[in-house]
Amino acid sequence: MTKVRAAVVGGGIVGVAVARELLLSGTAASVELFEKEPALAAHQTGRNSGVVHAGLYYEPGGLKATLCRRGVGLLQEVAARRNVPYEECGKVVVARDDAELARLRLILDRALANGVPGVRMIGAAELQRIEPHSRGLAALHSPTTAITDYAAMTRALALDFTEAGGTVRLGHKVTAMTDGGTRVSVTTGGTSSSFDLVINCAGLQSDRLAKASGDSANPRIAPFFGAYFLLRPERRALVNGLIYPAPDPRYPFLGVHLTKRIDGEIMVGPNAFLAGGREAYRALQLAPRDLAAVAGFGGFWRFAAGNVPAAVREGRTVLSRRVFIDAARAYVPELELSDVMPGHRGIRAQAMNPDGSLVDDFVITGNARIMHVRNAPSPGATSSMAIAEHVVALASAR
Ligand SMILES: Cc1cc2nc3c(=O)[nH]c(=O)nc-3n(C[C@H](O)[C@H](O)[C@H](O)COP(=O)(O)OP(=O)(O)OC[C@H]3O[C@@H](n4cnc5c(N)ncnc54)[C@H](O)[C@@H]3O)c2cc1C
Repeated sequence: MTKVRAAVVGGGIVGVAVARELLLSGTAASVELFEKEPALAAHQTGRNSGVVHAGLYYEPGGLKATLCRRGVGLLQEVAARRNVPYEECGKVVVARDDAELARLRLILDRALANGVPGVRMIGAAELQRIEPHSRGLAALHSPTTAITDYAAMTRALALDFTEAGGTVRLGHKVTAMTDGGTRVSVTTGGTSSSFDLVINCAGLQSDRLAKASGDSANPRIAPFFGAYFLLRPERRALVNGLIYPAPDPRYPFLGVHLTKRIDGEIMVGPNAFLAGGREAYRALQLAPRDLAAVAGFGGFWRFAAGNVPAAVREGRTVLSRRVFIDAARAYVPELELSDVMPGHRGIRAQAMNPDGSLVDDFVITGNARIMHVRNAPSPGATSSMAIAEHVVALASAR
């Protein structure tokens, strides 16, 4: 294949990984990366839980399962070579009753099918040895689940990219991508440049760019925010690693959990509720264009009608700090309301179908000239480098 001139839109971890892979695989002769913000990793990548997922939950054989497992090893190589902090602190998924235990057994089957190393069921006594302040009937223990700093990881990948000759253009918002049949014109800041291949990794804005360049309007991005609290420094000893609930299988989010951050902070969260805008990080901040898009999308109303109990449960955590902390106290009974202070907020780019279902797996669409990463929610950061390999292999095949 002749080497192409390529562009990537989006400087989150997926876009940077794709740009890097285009050059390092020898697919592209030159690559320009366009990011609208003044820094890389300003949205989902810099506002997540920082967990390197081991691949417990995902449907065996699906993209999430295969790319997450592969992504872990690729991240470890970059962490070691570029000195990015990475710690295998381990994770317990806790069951409080028989119904939750049955869920854990299904997760264990998936984890084993996905080849997650060292994962096994443990009893209440062993749970207390691993996490002395946690209580439960039993738990699933994943000793290799890790934590990292995804913004630092993105900067490390960007170094690989620029050292290989790539160009990062910060503060460049792409306003149009026009497929001319043989080449694609990319417009930013009133000027247009032409490329053989363009890859849209715009996260929360990916569906809009895709539709405007001729791809399908669906699936659409539904922005779900997640708020975090932080444990006060003197209470950080309540948690050693990662303590998660047995997730509700009808819902793609994992439930409020307790997560050690790589800088030693302990985060409590995130909950999951419709955001006031795709990039509306402040409480009560509203973005009318984004809200109008949600309100005008039938899929959202079908989703809402089918998920009333989950919406009520999550809505209560939005309205009441006590209810939020109660969700975590179910796993760490000593946790008190006075132990926490407000942390950051993140917004998930979760794709939704017109029938109201949430898209579970990663989704990549497009043609030989423009490709769109249309759904890369969690474990998207863990999987980012493997997503990049997959996208570049698809582009080469086309
Ligand atoms: C609360 C939360 C917790 C999570 N926890 C985890 C976790 O623990 N582990 C894990 O693996 N994953 C986690 N995830 C998921 C993970 O963060 C994402 O899968 C990943 O960051 C997606 O990366 P991205 O590059 O696709 O998107 P983003 O990081 O959102 O990057 C997209 C970029 O595109 C840019 N952009 C958009 N429009 C344009 C335009 N027109 N022109 C130029 N640039 C544009 C944006 O500014 C942005 O920088 C979490 C996500 C959230 C929100």
